[in-house]
Amino acid sequence: MMQSFQHVTVLGSTGSIGVSTLDVIARHPDRFQVFALTANQRVKELAAQCLQFHPRYAVVKSEALAQQLASLVGEGVEVLWGQSGLSFVAAHEKVDAVMSAIVGAAGLEPTLAAVKAGKKVLLANKEALVMAGQLFMDAVTESKSILLPIDSEHNAIFQCLPADYKDPSVAGVRRLLLSASGGPFRNTPIEQLINVTPDQACAHPNWDMGRKISVDSATMMNKGLELIEASWLFSVSTQDIDVLIHPQSIVHSLVEYKDGSVLAQLGNPDMRTPIAHALAWPDRLESGVRALDLVAIATLDFEAPDEQRFPALALARAAADSQGNAPAALNAANEVAVAAFLNKQIGFTKITEVVDTVMQKWQVETLSDLNAVQRADTHAREMAVQAMSAI
Ligand code: NAD
Ligand code: MG
Repeated sequence: MMQSFQHVTVLGSTGSIGVSTLDVIARHPDRFQVFALTANQRVKELAAQCLQFHPRYAVVKSEALAQQLASLVGEGVEVLWGQSGLSFVAAHEKVDAVMSAIVGAAGLEPTLAAVKAGKKVLLANKEALVMAGQLFMDAVTESKSILLPIDSEHNAIFQCLPADYKDPSVAGVRRLLLSASGGPFRNTPIEQLINVTPDQACAHPNWDMGRKISVDSATMMNKGLELIEASWLFSVSTQDIDVLIHPQSIVHSLVEYKDGSVLAQLGNPDMRTPIAHALAWPDRLESGVRALDLVAIATLDFEAPDEQRFPALALARAAADSQGNAPAALNAANEVAVAAFLNKQIGFTKITEVVDTVMQKWQVETLSDLNAVQRADTHAREMAVQAMSAI
């Protein structure tokens, strides 16, 4: 089926996912027009993107940055700022598809605005779904928004499930297998982890990503967040999701069916594949990704994750089991701890220690509405700061 022309808003266009999204879009001017681009503070990069893609709107963090951007891009682009600007371009009536690629909790509001407006939402911002879980999925159901996963593992699982997939028992799914590379420290002696630097943590062996998700990959909190993300996206209990270490990052994830069949999606580790898949779905598009050469790769390895090396996995499973606002607290504490590590305020192994301290004290409550999500987020951030001052 050939879909009609799509107007696309890219939230977080200056980031790693945002740049890859624009790379795919630029290959298909007959299919996509950029409607809005957004960045936090990188005005120069955003201005260059505006000059190339001619969006109707651009959004930055503050009024002062908006003035800077306006002077760089001229009349054709209307410049907005702040959360209200982000939500406006995410929910605008002219928009067909929204790429949600802001990092962290800041992406929640505009992503939910897109969902509530019934947009096709391409979800890279896993933190939004981890934080708001049921509220997010209820909003998808209510608005009939189409939610397409960009996270490579979830995009792989989506591709391995039947097109009319609703829940695992109807589809005959026994379990999901989430691939994980194991990050840069898979084989580093555990006693050396206390001394690793932000640059070492961000030097991922297979993927070139933003700094926050790179650190999450090194602690494997990324896989913990993805476990929660997968359970919401595919209505699968976290007990039926296993993590599989696969250092080559070629098999992006797998679905095991009750007849013993296991379906996997393979490809080179390049986010333009899931991005092109979701942009074109249910069609297929050229993405610019080089063809997979399995003969050259020759070997695909798999191993069980070492839960002692990666305590974040158990922390995420526990938060998922606790339900309510526990995943929001886990995410917030992690964001604070990762930022502190990147600013060289705490050591690498302290990241999961801070999250653990917060979660041990956390009083779980149900998530009644978005305010409850924001309250949990704020409170867990305060607790994380406190936990760090005690280190
Ligand atoms: P990044 O740091 O490279 O880019 C983040 C983008 O968000 C930038 O455009 C930045 O300007 C914007 N941003 C940051 N803080 C903001 C704020 N407070 N308000 C508004 N905008 C803000 O991050 P990334 O690697 O592109 O990741 C983006 C999201 O995609 C994350 O949620 C990440 O977990 C997810 N993801 C990324 C990859 C990857 O390969 N990079 C893979 C899977 C999932
Ligand atoms: Mg992923």
